[in-house]
Amino acid sequence: MTGPCIGVDVGGTSVRAAVVGADGTVIDQRQSGTPVERTAAEAEIAGVITDLAAHHPVRAVGLAVAGFVSADMSRVMFAPHLAWRDAPVADLIAARVGLPVVMDHDVNCAAWAEHTLGAAADARVSLTVAIGTGIGAGLVVDGTLYRGAHGVAPELGHLAVIPAGRACACGKRGCLERYCSGTALAATALERMATTDSAPLAAALEAGGGTLTGLDVARAARAGDAVALGAFADLGRWLGLGVAMACDVLDPEIVVIGGGVSRSADLFLDAARERLERELTGAHYRVVPPLVPARFGDAASMVGAALIAARRVG
Ligand SMILES: [Zn+2]
Repeated sequence: MTGPCIGVDVGGTSVRAAVVGADGTVIDQRQSGTPVERTAAEAEIAGVITDLAAHHPVRAVGLAVAGFVSADMSRVMFAPHLAWRDAPVADLIAARVGLPVVMDHDVNCAAWAEHTLGAAADARVSLTVAIGTGIGAGLVVDGTLYRGAHGVAPELGHLAVIPAGRACACGKRGCLERYCSGTALAATALERMATTDSAPLAAALEAGGGTLTGLDVARAARAGDAVALGAFADLGRWLGLGVAMACDVLDPEIVVIGGGVSRSADLFLDAARERLERELTGAHYRVVPPLVPARFGDAASMVGAALIAARRVG
């Protein structure tokens, strides 16, 4: 059977769902907000699935969840921005929609999409790094997603790259995620604004009621603002450092950069490559892995979830 499956990316703020063909093509899609309350979130997810299934002959559903998923892929153990705690989410959604449902960590799904049909299609060992609200990673080794002993590997976001650096919600300081993510981008731009004027960012800050977002910084950078461009270059340099640390441990053939912030990859990838070459141990005597944008961009988790579901149901 090669009929389409539904992939759902369940994030902290939005639910994005798509009908995905066997070749990774997005045939139809829906998007809605993620309710905070647990059963309301389950009803919302089931609603978008039922709507898509009413219009397409789908076989199964894959859920990409921003959180820790149990090794048997049935339970959400913990998700910082979602209400589930040790909950059998795949079964709960399956009972509501009447279709087989499988589930995986959102960046594992993205890594799977890039491995099977995307930027890492020919690689034996590939690392996918997704930069969004936070930063996450997925590792494919010899055609298999590497999950570690308890399903929580690989975790790059909370590598402490700056001793005594910015405080992180995880309780540590100087985590990579605090320097290389959409939220970090805004924090870096605000720091730079303390010494350099930026008319577009000052206007965005006022319009946002004292809050700046990564999207504001991306817009200002596109307009040529020096502070915003500097914040992106900083993000790239931090990414290069984090990727170098990951490459020292994992030695991947290729590193794929996805997530929402990768829409601005042209603004930071060169800085990241330069830092990677500088930081990677013995860089002059080994192959430095190429750092490339994800083929599926920020749809990779949704597409990968559908591909994983298709594989599971055969
Ligand atoms: Zn942290």
